[in-house]
Amino acid sequence: RAKADRTKAVCFYEQGMDETVRARRTLAGELREALDNNELDLHYQVQTAVSTGEVRGYEVLLRWKHPKHGFIPPSEFIPLAEETGLILQLGEWVLRTACAAATSWTPAYKIAVNLSPVQLSHADLPKLIHEILLETQLPASRLELELTESTIIADKVRTLHILRQIKQLGVTIALDDFGTGYSSLETLRSFPFDTIKLDRSFMSEVETSPQAKAIIRAVLALGKSLSIPVLAEGIETQSQLSLLDAEGCDAAQGFYLGRPAPLDQIMISGQISRIEAGIAA
Ligand code: C2E
Ligand code: MG
Ligand code: MG
Ligand code: MG
Repeated sequence: RAKADRTKAVCFYEQGMDETVRARRTLAGELREALDNNELDLHYQVQTAVSTGEVRGYEVLLRWKHPKHGFIPPSEFIPLAEETGLILQLGEWVLRTACAAATSWTPAYKIAVNLSPVQLSHADLPKLIHEILLETQLPASRLELELTESTIIADKVRTLHILRQIKQLGVTIALDDFGTGYSSLETLRSFPFDTIKLDRSFMSEVETSPQAKAIIRAVLALGKSLSIPVLAEGIETQSQLSLLDAEGCDAAQGFYLGRPAPLDQIMISGQISRIEAGIAA
């Protein structure tokens, strides 16, 4: 009976929304193949301390170069992977690959990995992370997991329980895209985050909008009083960086400091990024 229902649902879609739905279904299948055929790639983007320009770590960003359509952004294929459940396998691959890569770095920078709400809704995530850390020999303190507020809101009690288990391993947790969600302050009260990542939308307006600048100041003050370091996302210019330095922001990330790039490239650029930033001088 379940099978009959499913067939009916498919027919409905085929008549109704045709093109888009079919295209998405095809793409979802191709994403699965991409994972099996090693067509996915990880790029790494540097995160630096604002006052010294020192490298703090690298955020891992998933890349898919489709054989026909070329580069497809994560904002398109991550939701697809979440809908189909493929995100579990995909996320595991990202974690394992990134942790393994991080063990090859000297000095011992942190590696920041984005987590999907779907991954966090699985009770065995702490166990998986523990296994990957053992397997790759990466010290837990070098792994940071990034999650957004919407992740926590979905099923708060359960999510916080899983997060606490992960934190007990020694892994740190960053609150990503801060300022774009619904209940930022409530989220900050519920869980001891190790880093607040201020969403890049504030940075892009900082020079034109007094409001954006005021909000940045307020978030930095909030971070200080909660003793949580703030990392500003989306730094594209020297003047944005100087402003953050003047305001006492802890860390930053953005095209100005370094674009996401494959592992072999960041091995070199990571060395020069503190000179390029030119803040310490
Ligand atoms: P995010 O975690 O907030 O990652 C930062 C995004 O901002 C990245 O986009 C990065 O390329 C972009 N970015 C960095 N610096 C600048 C800048 O100076 N200016 C501008 N305009 N953009 C900048 P990307 O790589 O397209 O990723 C988008 C989102 O997709 C990520 O947002 C994250 O939520 C998600 N994502 C990426 N990789 C993964 C992954 O492995 N797993 C999961 N679950 N999500 C991922
Ligand atoms: Mg992130
Ligand atoms: Mg972000
Ligand atoms: Mg984002």
